[in-house]
Amino acid sequence: MERFLVSFDTTKLEKTCYDVIIIGAGIGGLYTALTLPDYLSVLIVSKEPFDHTNSYKAQGGIACVMDDMIDHVDKHIVDTMKCGHYTNNVEAVNILITEARKNINQLIDFGVNFDKDNSGKYRLGMEGAHSQKRILHRGDTTGAHIMDVLSSRIRERDNITWTDDGYVLDILSQDNQCFGILMKRNNILQVAYSNHTILATGGIGRALNFTTNDPVSTGDGIGMALRASVQLGDMNYLQYHPTVFADPLKTRDNFLISEAVRGEGATILDENHVSIMADLHPQKDLAPRDIVAKAIFDRLKTQEHEYVYLDMTHFTNTYIETRFPYIYEKCMKHGLNPNEDLIPIMPMMHYHMGGVSVDLNGQTSMNHLYAVGECANTGVHGKNRLASNSLLEAIVFGNRIAKHIDANKGLEICEKDICYTVNKPFKTEMDTIYQISHMLNQYFVTKRRTIFKRLKKYLKDHEQFINVPSKKRANLENYNMYCTIKAIYEFEANAIKEELEGEKNYVIKAAN
Ligand SMILES: Cc1cc2nc3c(=O)[nH]c(=O)nc-3n(C[C@H](O)[C@H](O)[C@H](O)COP(=O)(O)OP(=O)(O)OC[C@H]3O[C@@H](n4cnc5c(N)ncnc54)[C@H](O)[C@@H]3O)c2cc1C
Repeated sequence: MERFLVSFDTTKLEKTCYDVIIIGAGIGGLYTALTLPDYLSVLIVSKEPFDHTNSYKAQGGIACVMDDMIDHVDKHIVDTMKCGHYTNNVEAVNILITEARKNINQLIDFGVNFDKDNSGKYRLGMEGAHSQKRILHRGDTTGAHIMDVLSSRIRERDNITWTDDGYVLDILSQDNQCFGILMKRNNILQVAYSNHTILATGGIGRALNFTTNDPVSTGDGIGMALRASVQLGDMNYLQYHPTVFADPLKTRDNFLISEAVRGEGATILDENHVSIMADLHPQKDLAPRDIVAKAIFDRLKTQEHEYVYLDMTHFTNTYIETRFPYIYEKCMKHGLNPNEDLIPIMPMMHYHMGGVSVDLNGQTSMNHLYAVGECANTGVHGKNRLASNSLLEAIVFGNRIAKHIDANKGLEICEKDICYTVNKPFKTEMDTIYQISHMLNQYFVTKRRTIFKRLKKYLKDHEQFINVPSKKRANLENYNMYCTIKAIYEFEANAIKEELEGEKNYVIKAAN
């Protein structure tokens, strides 16, 4: 693999210099920028404006124990661990939950207004696998509200420059030390140097065929990290959300129907209108996401329709309209009235638990390089994320990164000139990406080894596709998706190998 996506010579490019560069303007990027001390000069680069992010799309809300009289942090910790099948990093989980309220209060200080009842108490929502109502929300457009507030605060800060039409191609590094980025703006390559660089590039959903994710989610940060030999972790931990609108007319308007709707009593029915979850799990429709998604996939194999249904018809007439106005409007747009009609749904790729490995201060394996938000792998989620814990992860660990950078002040910005020539320029064929993402999706849906073997062969056979020059953003994103899929494949292949070896050892042991 080439170290950089394109050839360049920094002596010939426009250069700028900052204390901190943040790649990405979702909740991870913006919150970290705001919690950094204002004596630091900060550059935020995003490839699209802030309303084109997964953060902006977040519906259900953000989990936090707000009242110790009715809830307890230990319960939130247990729910998080249980949902992650106890594969979570315990230390990181403890930090996530114990530092939650402090950061929620910081969000509130920035101007975030979560819904309250008439007595002024927070209206806490219920979501899957939580043992308690603890989801702070703002209607069903929590992410949009938080992002509106954070972006307004950013624009008031003199120390922060925000470029929302810049595409970062790669991080610059030498001797395992990051010292800036190579970016493209108005079709012109530029270099920005920094003491500290933070990857906040979000998810990878677009690398799989059907997803709830915003189009920005092409795994660029993963690709950058991989090319710079930065350590990745848990890449094969993908989460499918059980209830995504599956338009029978195949418009591909796959909008999410928040778990909070099931938290208020909605149920999942098969094509014969029989409950899928009633007898399958003690928490029924509010079982952890992986369990509900698998139950739906299993049912889809035995029924004729390509989708199942979400039944919200028990709600009183105006309830959905007022509590879930976005979802209501989207359903109505498709000619379905959630008060009367069953809503066709299907599980789709939603969240990536894995990513760039980081420690408890968000530091990656490369000096002066941090990662935050969905592109980072803190280990808090384990194999399966608990609902509404990801916005929380972004703010808690974003704050820790800011504190860590503040504690390491006084560094010299190292400006190094680099000249690099790509030996094997590339182009990723859209069809190649489509085929491999389709196979990867099919594999994760069915976990069939035959599909996995086919994917292996296809990846090998198509390596030569990656060698025709192109500098278009879509092609660079395709290549990052290709890198992401390959990394997922390799992690999954390893996991399968370990599983098989475990079985073999078990048989030998048992024979003894
Ligand atoms: C529909 C939906 C609903 C959700 N609901 C909830 C919820 O209720 N609660 C919850 O906790 N979680 C929810 N999630 C998950 C959560 O929203 C995300 O995990 C979280 O917002 C990710 O934030 P982020 O800052 O890491 O990434 P994002 O918000 O996706 O931002 C990524 C940023 O990186 C930039 N970027 C990427 N590549 C480049 C590049 N090469 N150059 C420059 N910029 C780049 C993008 O432009 C963007 O600004 C939901 C997710 C979806 C998709």
